[in-house]
Amino acid sequence: MIIDEFEYWKKLPHNFSDPWFKTLCPELPFGVEFGIKYKSFSINPSTYLNYFLKTFTSLGGTTQRANLSHLNECIKSDTDIVVNYLGIHARTLGCVEDSDVFPARGQTVIAQLPQSYMNWAFFKRVLPNCAYFLMHNVKGADGESTFAILRDNGEVTLGGTYEEDNYSTDVDYDTAAAIIQRCLATRPDLLPKDQPNLIIKMHGVGLRPCHKGGVRVETELTEKFGKKILICHNYGHGGSGYESSYGTAQSALKIMKEIL
Ligand SMILES: Cc1cc2nc3c(=O)[nH]c(=O)nc-3n(C[C@H](O)[C@H](O)[C@H](O)COP(=O)(O)OP(=O)(O)OC[C@H]3O[C@@H](n4cnc5c(N)ncnc54)[C@H](O)[C@@H]3O)c2cc1C
Repeated sequence: MIIDEFEYWKKLPHNFSDPWFKTLCPELPFGVEFGIKYKSFSINPSTYLNYFLKTFTSLGGTTQRANLSHLNECIKSDTDIVVNYLGIHARTLGCVEDSDVFPARGQTVIAQLPQSYMNWAFFKRVLPNCAYFLMHNVKGADGESTFAILRDNGEVTLGGTYEEDNYSTDVDYDTAAAIIQRCLATRPDLLPKDQPNLIIKMHGVGLRPCHKGGVRVETELTEKFGKKILICHNYGHGGSGYESSYGTAQSALKIMKEIL
């Protein structure tokens, strides 16, 4: 869905001395020195993934659930290509075991707003430069980056944290309360006037599958059943797996075609 996106910086970024776009965000919330507003889009992950699954099956694809401990387990006698999209588990899967893969834990709160209550999202950065906050290790404390992202069903994802090498998938309720407080402090209009509190639908904890040096899109050949099998790796998308999915899938396809 198309939304208005607000990006805020607590302090004017060092490298934004006199940006041409400085007038794009006329109204700034309290405690924000610089901000911009532009049209963007919001992807609802469930809708997005279901769309691909439906497209895949409608083209004749079939699915099977399995818990793999070694890449070889998915190579049968009629297998020609294996695409490895295992995310964080590329660190442990036999035959991949990539020690450059690491998690960046992220905690979120999903709140339900009345349908059509708002049509915007915001992202507030606290670092004094324009770098994406997900490049940095920020967690739990006051003053960290904060966001609210609206979905098409009226849900809004409030965040967040970015905790490298933290494998815990347990909800930390103090962190959740801090996230809600930071979001409402930045944009009090998140809370509908007739509601005393936000309606919390669920808490989310996820491990962003990061990879030192960026996404790994690479091919290699292995031998099994007396023939060569093409392995294509495509993992390590960190905190932008949805946004970068089309591009990295196209890169994977391109390098596979070069070998076939
Ligand atoms: C808090 C948070 C906020 C985020 N915000 C954004 C955002 O704003 N924009 C964005 O684009 N992305 C965002 N992401 C990142 C996004 O979730 C990831 O980049 C994306 O999920 C990576 O996709 P993937 O398919 O590579 O890995 P995953 O989604 O981890 O998928 C890996 C798959 O492999 C399967 N698998 C793993 N191990 C095995 C095994 N042994 N055997 C069989 N199957 C296995 C899993 O079941 C899973 O289906 C966010 C993530 C978090 C946690």
